[in-house]
Amino acid sequence: MKTRIFFVDKNVDDLSTYPQIIEAASYLKRDELVAFPTETVYGLGANAMSTSAVENIFIAKGRPSDNPLIVHIATKEQLYDVACDIPSVAYTLMDHFWPGPLTLVLPKKDAVSPRVTAGLNTVAVRMPNHPIALALIQASGLPIAAPSANRSGRPSPTTAKHVLDDLDGRIAAVVDGGATGVGVESTVIDCTSAIPTILRPGGVTKEEIERVIGAVDIDRALVEKEAVPKSPGMKYTHYAPKAPLVVVYGSPSFLQQVVNEKRASGFTVGVLTTEERRDTYEADVVIACGRRSDLRTVAKQLYDALRAFDETHVHFIYSEAFPNEGIGVAIMNRLLKAAGYQQMMEK
Ligand code: AMP
Ligand code: MG
Repeated sequence: MKTRIFFVDKNVDDLSTYPQIIEAASYLKRDELVAFPTETVYGLGANAMSTSAVENIFIAKGRPSDNPLIVHIATKEQLYDVACDIPSVAYTLMDHFWPGPLTLVLPKKDAVSPRVTAGLNTVAVRMPNHPIALALIQASGLPIAAPSANRSGRPSPTTAKHVLDDLDGRIAAVVDGGATGVGVESTVIDCTSAIPTILRPGGVTKEEIERVIGAVDIDRALVEKEAVPKSPGMKYTHYAPKAPLVVVYGSPSFLQQVVNEKRASGFTVGVLTTEERRDTYEADVVIACGRRSDLRTVAKQLYDALRAFDETHVHFIYSEAFPNEGIGVAIMNRLLKAAGYQQMMEK
């Protein structure tokens, strides 16, 4: 399969009639796969009502079939095509955070392919805050199931190049709309439990949600390592660069000492840090990802930084840890998953 690339400037007027968007949408209508930018990461879209279209997502990504997909919509009306019995708290969340990086888990309508929801009786839905994603979904007239557009287990793609690195020749098309903004995926919140429960931390923080609807729960699996996650996707190792990654808690001098020991044993070593400390470390490769003083910039660049190590020949990567609050919760969740939970602590 030859993957077509549609270049679209997200700032053009009236994207909904833009020929490249119309053509990309026609692929979706024919049940083919189209990758497209959202405000979080690039998504790999398919018609959510078609079992065969959705099946192709799992094949192209090599994604485990028990990991359900998020359905993307462009208007609130489309919600009624995929979900029912919508609780009032969900409407409040939609009013505040849509379009945006918040995914709501709601009771599912039968018409949604069970392949989308991995057989669950709930469906995860969000409205992305990106003009290209919205125009494409609207032009297709369909709810679009879309996981991140990477091979399963790899860091999520934040550029069309990342998508092609993983999926060229495996999908019908990619809409190249430039780099994405938030960098980490949406927050997933279950609205079917008595108290809404965060199943995956992401672009909207717990603090932001609680300001709007009061106290929420956090899925036990996010706090206790042994618990079984309610969001099936959370159990897989994810986002991993090719070299083993270890998250190091402590001072820069402790991290430097760890690096020195590995280098003394003959290994080449990479360090993942931020702009503020880029010049602090002596290692074979030092990659800075955003600024520690503004963790949103770290979230934005994290996956690009993890992928950048794959272009080097380091044997090991050591990363600084980040504060576990605000957007830092999503950053640490992704970083620890990328590390397969390998961590070191300064005594
Ligand atoms: P991804 O598309 O790879 O960013 O992952 C989507 C996330 O949403 C995964 O963690 C899924 O397990 C989660 N998810 C999707 N649908 C549901 C659902 N019905 N209930 C709970 N979690 C879900
Ligand atoms: Mg993903």
